[in-house]
Amino acid sequence: MKINIEELVRENIRNLKPYSSARKEFSGKADVLLDANENPYGSPLKKKYNRYPDPDQTRLKQVFAEVNNLSTDHIAIENGSDMMIDHICRVFCQPGKDNIIVLPPTFAMYEVAAHTNGNEVREVLLGNDFRMDAKEILKAVDGNTKVIFLCSPNNPTGNVMDRNEIKYLLDHFKGIIVLDEAYNNFSNQRSFVHELQDYNNLIVLQTLSKAWGLAGLRIGIAYSDPVIAGYLNKIKTPYNLSIASEEMAVKALGQSAMVNEWIKEIIAQRSLLADSLLAFDFVEKVYPSEANFLLIKVKDAQALYDYLLSQKIIVRNQSNKPLLTNCLRISIGTPEENKLLISALKKF
Ligand SMILES: *Cc1c(COP(=O)(O)O)cnc(C)c1O
Repeated sequence: MKINIEELVRENIRNLKPYSSARKEFSGKADVLLDANENPYGSPLKKKYNRYPDPDQTRLKQVFAEVNNLSTDHIAIENGSDMMIDHICRVFCQPGKDNIIVLPPTFAMYEVAAHTNGNEVREVLLGNDFRMDAKEILKAVDGNTKVIFLCSPNNPTGNVMDRNEIKYLLDHFKGIIVLDEAYNNFSNQRSFVHELQDYNNLIVLQTLSKAWGLAGLRIGIAYSDPVIAGYLNKIKTPYNLSIASEEMAVKALGQSAMVNEWIKEIIAQRSLLADSLLAFDFVEKVYPSEANFLLIKVKDAQALYDYLLSQKIIVRNQSNKPLLTNCLRISIGTPEENKLLISALKKF
């Protein structure tokens, strides 16, 4: 289904005249750059950072475009997907009027971004085995519902959402569907980036923070129809990505062999760790995971959390989330770290 995206965009964003940066007005080759009030000498560092970065992140977008067999006009890049989530709310949701839908238990940033922007958040709980039900979700939609956030594999439950349910929503919801694929590298799910030609209301979020091991660089990517990408690029700050981040990311993306080895190892460790955890009598359930973490249900999550903390091992207590009473989320570590976890648990 194709919908009219322009109609969904907030009027002030549609009419917005973006800031015109010095490096946008002039981008050719020049000998003397006196247009951006930069320091002409250099930087107090070995490498020079005195010039502003490329506002369009052309180099990095080309890499993402090639990998996904898309043109660069489908791509927007931000300082982490957290910021992209915030921008998606700002492009489409009128403060005090529009709403978004989330499927708890899920990633908390969707709700935070919507509330920051003054939008109502509607919750449709995940069903049995944390499955989504597209028809249930559609019942929560009203004329002011602009965005539905889906996360697959879902954080913190670890399961992937049914492809047909996602497609049903894409076909029947006349708003924006955000599919957060932060953990896609660890799953067998085929990325929905390959479905973009069929759905102009789809935004696929990916990040270099998880499998790629670059959480500290802050790189989040949105893939979408060029109209949506145009708006996400329109409202970003002019020099949102630093030269260092863009260069490091381009370099890292050339090292996929190493990353694929890590992914394989993490998936292998995930299944070993799941087996080891199941052997403890205080572990009631280890939920199936297609991500780089395991969600487990225990007899007393707070007691286990506090004990692990005393052993200097930090996991995430999820007990305060709906459907997750006495659940902990444990990231998959190195084999050594996972062994330390298991030997600590033996003494609990
Ligand atoms: C970790 C995570 C992200 C990544 O956020 P960044 O800002 O890119 O580091 C996005 N979505 C989900 C569901 C996550 O768990």
